[in-house]
Amino acid sequence: SRTYVITGAASGIGKTTAELLRADGHTVIGVDLAGVEVDGDLSTSEGRRAAAEAATQLAGGTVDAVIACAGLSLPKAITAAVNYFGMTEFLEAMQPALAKSDAPRTALISSLSSVQPVFPPLVDAFLNDDEQAALGIAEELAQNEQTGGLIYASSKQAISRWVHREAVTERWAGAGIPLNAVGPGVVKTPMTADLRATPEGSALIDAVVPMPLGYHQDPESIAKLLIWLTSVDNTHCCGQTIYCDGGAEAVLRGEDV
Ligand code: NAD
Repeated sequence: SRTYVITGAASGIGKTTAELLRADGHTVIGVDLAGVEVDGDLSTSEGRRAAAEAATQLAGGTVDAVIACAGLSLPKAITAAVNYFGMTEFLEAMQPALAKSDAPRTALISSLSSVQPVFPPLVDAFLNDDEQAALGIAEELAQNEQTGGLIYASSKQAISRWVHREAVTERWAGAGIPLNAVGPGVVKTPMTADLRATPEGSALIDAVVPMPLGYHQDPESIAKLLIWLTSVDNTHCCGQTIYCDGGAEAVLRGEDV
């Protein structure tokens, strides 16, 4: 059996992933604001480092896989802090514990939104690892209802680009640690519950997320992909964002891959 650290394990996709892994006999150390093994606030640098330290300690120093799910979809600056730095800085802090495993793997959650319109200066600030600049830009975008949504899409595009860039470096592939992302479409979790609950909300989602398969997805659809990506079966998938979204990414990008 393997030892997994999962952020966002108190709800939605992270919670489902933790349940499936435990049912298979694996050890899961959850990280979330409250309610799981490690209480941690991934919106701040201190919170990320403290959570990584606590999770590493609970694991006894060696972690076989980290799955980063924690995220927010609010049109607010905190979304930038949690969705990008709450994944990248946390994973960086977990890298030494992963490097001690015989078969380390890492996966995180991007989104179909990574191929939707973004605010390029914010994406650049993320990829330059400049949290202060990113939060400043996000604060400005959050002032206006029209631009608030760009924070989420920008954080997710930056995550997919970070994975593509970092996965092939000495620190990840060079240390034998495949690093990948999944890109969900519309998942039936608390994050989307309010929108899915009303006809207007559903119409709004369906207008921006074309879904040729015709139905929204259960969290298991993403959890099982995360589990495969972080299993020993994944020997060569590295640096990818795997879209699992009912066909939405294929519609939005067309032949442009
Ligand atoms: P969710 O709201 O059910 O779960 C998110 C979890 O993240 C919660 O338990 C929450 O407490 C935790 N979290 C939020 N802020 C945190 C912080 N500062 N520190 C620690 N933990 C924090 O949502 P979900 O749908 O399971 O989303 C999981 C991931 O999937 C997110 O990254 C989200 O952006 C992504 N995603 C979701 C969908 C969807 O349709 N639900 C689509 C694409 C991508």
